[in-house]
Amino acid sequence: MEEKALIFSAPSGAGKTTIVGHLLTVFNTLEFSISACSRQKREGETNGKDYYFLSPEEFKCKIEKDEFVEWEEVYKDLYYGTLKSELNRIWAKGNTIVFDVDVLGGINLKKKLGDKALSVFVMPPSIEELKNRLEKRGTESPESLKKRIDRAVEEISKAPQFDIVIENDSLEKAFAESEKRVGEFLAGNEL
Ligand code: ADP
Ligand code: 5GP
Repeated sequence: MEEKALIFSAPSGAGKTTIVGHLLTVFNTLEFSISACSRQKREGETNGKDYYFLSPEEFKCKIEKDEFVEWEEVYKDLYYGTLKSELNRIWAKGNTIVFDVDVLGGINLKKKLGDKALSVFVMPPSIEELKNRLEKRGTESPESLKKRIDRAVEEISKAPQFDIVIENDSLEKAFAESEKRVGEFLAGNEL
């Protein structure tokens, strides 16, 4: 069985969770890689489904034990990472892994996985619209929103390091484009 992976990265609020959620309903061999993180659980999130929620101490202990494929302090004091056990869990079932990671994490995973992975950057129409979406989502405090917007400009400059860029202006078009590109990758005529 060929081991494959899809890596989705974008500035927070660009719409990658929405796009990934859609793709998971279209392709039944895709399986979401559940990351570990040390932030607080948001309303509606479930431990072991959205993330493995760990305390900062538990997270650091796993770093020391070399249990991560990649990890990062995405925001100050907030750690996120992909556990090696997660890759084994999904590939053992013959499924394709779907990563939803920050931009640096996406670049690092692509370096590790090479041709096994298609890396996708989800591009927001503008920083203004990114801010609108995050405000409407209603999940961030003003401070957290500012952190995410401040980071977005630098993240967008890294888009050319991804295999493909999907514009998320109209969600309908973004869904259609991502379905097409992922379909081609899974069929073996990627990139
Ligand atoms: P991310 O996972 O990149 O942080 P989300 O998928 O959570 O982003 O999307 C951020 C917010 O923007 C959500 O409330 C989502 O419903 C909304 N959204 C996503 N794509 C679009 C779009 N094309 N047009 C308008 N709103 C969108
Ligand atoms: P959120 O707090 O909005 O769920 O995620 C914040 C950021 O952390 C997002 O950009 C998300 O993609 C990223 N992220 C989630 N999991 C991982 C991971 O395992 N590794 C890295 N590097 N980033 C991650």
